[in-house]
Amino acid sequence: MQEIRTPGMQNVVLATKTLADYAPVVGDDVIAELERLARPLQGARVLHINATAYGGGVAEMLHTLVPLMRNVGLEAEWRIISGHDEFYTVTKSMHNALQGMDLDLTPAMRAAYLHANVDNAVYLDDSFDYVIVHDPQPAPLRMLRAADPGKWIWRCHIDLTAASPRYWGFLRPFVQMYDAAIFTMPQYVKRDLQIGKIAIIPPAIDPLSPKNAPMKDTDARRVLELYHIDSNRPTLVQVSRFDPWKDPLGVIDVYRGVKAEFPDVQLVMAGSMAHDDPEGMEYYQRTKDYAGDDPDIHLLSNLDGVGNVEINAFQREATVVLQKSLREGFGLTVAEGLWKSRPVIGGNVGGIPLQIEDGATGFLVSSVEECTGRVLELMRDPRQARAMGERGREEVRHKFLSTANLRNYLNLFSDLAGITRDATETAERELTHV
Ligand code: UDP
Repeated sequence: MQEIRTPGMQNVVLATKTLADYAPVVGDDVIAELERLARPLQGARVLHINATAYGGGVAEMLHTLVPLMRNVGLEAEWRIISGHDEFYTVTKSMHNALQGMDLDLTPAMRAAYLHANVDNAVYLDDSFDYVIVHDPQPAPLRMLRAADPGKWIWRCHIDLTAASPRYWGFLRPFVQMYDAAIFTMPQYVKRDLQIGKIAIIPPAIDPLSPKNAPMKDTDARRVLELYHIDSNRPTLVQVSRFDPWKDPLGVIDVYRGVKAEFPDVQLVMAGSMAHDDPEGMEYYQRTKDYAGDDPDIHLLSNLDGVGNVEINAFQREATVVLQKSLREGFGLTVAEGLWKSRPVIGGNVGGIPLQIEDGATGFLVSSVEECTGRVLELMRDPRQARAMGERGREEVRHKFLSTANLRNYLNLFSDLAGITRDATETAERELTHV
């Protein structure tokens, strides 16, 4: 991934992706449906805007969604906003407050947020048919470009269920300027949000990306050995930013509880440092202090060279994948673990229950004790663990792959453009007759 630096926003340079390559994974019918949905949208100019091109789930998804939009005939781009440290500190508070923390929102914070958005809006002088603005960081852009004739969509990746009324009250007028909003789950939609259209779209993973593509067991094991992780011993894996909501300290407690019965168990916690996440380094240090000098706890990050291939290997070789979040908009790492046929234990919060059917494709837990009990259960019964992982993979195949994500966006664009199903079918007939 490479970014072109321009004042204001930066264009993210993207890889090329070909929809047809996904046919062996999802089936020809799914590909044909996507091609049909894209026909009336040929040449549509689409812009995605978010805060970071690296680290975290949103960036992860856009690296696939935008190239696939291009491949089906849309002129799709992705830009990231720029801002000073102060802006990212404010937006991190905003993220935390919208997830339920009780935080202050001072006039200086509001000003830093708005100033950065004004700076970015100045450079947004070309027009698009669809502009998708992800999360709160760039939310005011629509208000600042109110005369823009395109359809503007706010895509919220956050669980707003327990949002601080102060922060939501501040954000809501910006969001209401949009033509539509996308939420991951119906429960996340705030009752007082007045907006023309609401779409419910779960996030998705790319089965062909280096993070999720098939990998030989020998290759995966070699990656583990490179990081001094013993591939012959049981391993618990949590892949997450170092963030209190991901409960890394709770994960260490779980590992310690498991170690009492399985002394050879190891823990791998891999967490990238996103550039819009100033807390990351501090919380990494806290986690490191908590882990002490236990040689079986491996705290790793992009700073240790952990990239997509390494994450793929860690998840693939995990005895159990953990995502012990205390709040979670969706949790792509859950789908990633399930896709690798691993049993996944996740916090019973946010989007995790959407992905894990408790007792069937994994377990949902609400405490360290419960999580420890479930890990032990799976480690004592590898057959059950395997069966759960296999079921989980099929769930992901149907619901949470990038092709489903693309379909949901194409449907939304069509709705907003007033393209009916009949029109799509007419376009299809006309094309077949050419
Ligand atoms: N991730 C990664 N390296 C890391 C930590 C996380 O590549 O060291 C990826 C992870 O595999 C997933 C995304 O970042 O694809 C995190 O998305 P998720 O929805 O789980 O959480 P978020 O960070 O958006 O809260």
